[in-house]
Amino acid sequence: MHNFDYAAPRFESDVVELLSPEAGRTAVLAGGTDLIPLLKKMIVRPDRVVNIMEVPTLKQLDVLSDGTLRIGAAVTLDRLLDSDYLREYPAVTQAIRGINSMQLQCQGTIGGDLCQRPQCWFFRNGRGLFADGGREVVAGDNRFHAIFGNAGPAKFVSASRLAPALVALGAVFRIVGPAEDEETLVPADEFFCTPAHDGESETVLLPNQLLAHIYLPSPGKTASATYEVRHGEGPEDPLTAASVALELAGGVVQKARIVLGHVAPTPWRSAAAESALVGRRIDLDAAEAAGRAAVAEATPLSNNVYKVQLAKVAVKRAILQAADLESGGF
Ligand SMILES: Cc1cc2nc3c(=O)[nH]c(=O)nc-3n(C[C@H](O)[C@H](O)[C@H](O)COP(=O)(O)OP(=O)(O)OC[C@H]3O[C@@H](n4cnc5c(N)ncnc54)[C@H](O)[C@@H]3O)c2cc1C
Repeated sequence: MHNFDYAAPRFESDVVELLSPEAGRTAVLAGGTDLIPLLKKMIVRPDRVVNIMEVPTLKQLDVLSDGTLRIGAAVTLDRLLDSDYLREYPAVTQAIRGINSMQLQCQGTIGGDLCQRPQCWFFRNGRGLFADGGREVVAGDNRFHAIFGNAGPAKFVSASRLAPALVALGAVFRIVGPAEDEETLVPADEFFCTPAHDGESETVLLPNQLLAHIYLPSPGKTASATYEVRHGEGPEDPLTAASVALELAGGVVQKARIVLGHVAPTPWRSAAAESALVGRRIDLDAAEAAGRAAVAEATPLSNNVYKVQLAKVAVKRAILQAADLESGGF
């Protein structure tokens, strides 16, 4: 392991001050379930690690006066699952349950989930995020790689389990830094980006910025769900996932937000699936039509054509699940 300094400040402003403006020089440590393995394998080699788990404000979990749920980035996933506040956001709790590991849920944080690095095995084996400009991925084993947004060198899929649900629910992220008293609010669907060059990040965070809070709007009458297609019951990433948030009136969809996970370098919002659903009463036909629309523009690689069918089914089942309808059957 590369030697590094360690700091455990108690204030957000101190965290920001300890972070370097230069990419890779410092790293934020939350639960450590993703960062520690990367440090051990020297995939990341920071000179300083800044532990944020001693900062009380990052552990806030409360409802603001306008009904917005405020979640500190260092709140653990098991605390979210135990919280009554989360009952009204089933898309989020279903995604957390999907992790299927008490250890990861107790140790991992919501901020760590959102900022975790891609699980791409080329990256995790030291080939870099782009592996020869993406050519190694195209020619190699790309069965778990992207089926959307993969025209550039980035072929990996966004690893965050909670991001599709938070984008669907219209969450807003509070980012602090780079100046000591600076803060920005960023909608969840603008937080993630597709890097094209080494040194660029998978999020809009600058190296000396911190994700501090996640704000979830009051759920009102929004129905939501997450459906993941997994190849086992262990704590591995889903093959594909879909999160939906629906506003219904008299059983008819007024507004829909449909976001696919593990199919692209970012959470992948499908405007086509949303249009296919709005104005319709939810039944099997409507859900299937949205699923078909969601994958119509997919661009699978040589080994992951199977993910197109899985993504279609994930969208269909998430919609039916949100509407409390039976979701079985391919
Ligand atoms: C065996 C194993 C299996 C796993 N399986 C899954 C899985 O099935 N699904 C899944 O989603 N994840 C999985 N993970 C990944 C990971 O454990 C979780 O996603 C977890 O939520 C990460 O949270 P953490 O607090 O431990 O993050 P950390 O490891 O502390 O941090 C993760 C990354 O985010 C950065 N970071 C953390 N917090 C912030 C912040 N507030 N602001 C800016 N940057 C920040 C860190 O610098 C680091 O790069 C697995 C990990 C392991 C070891």
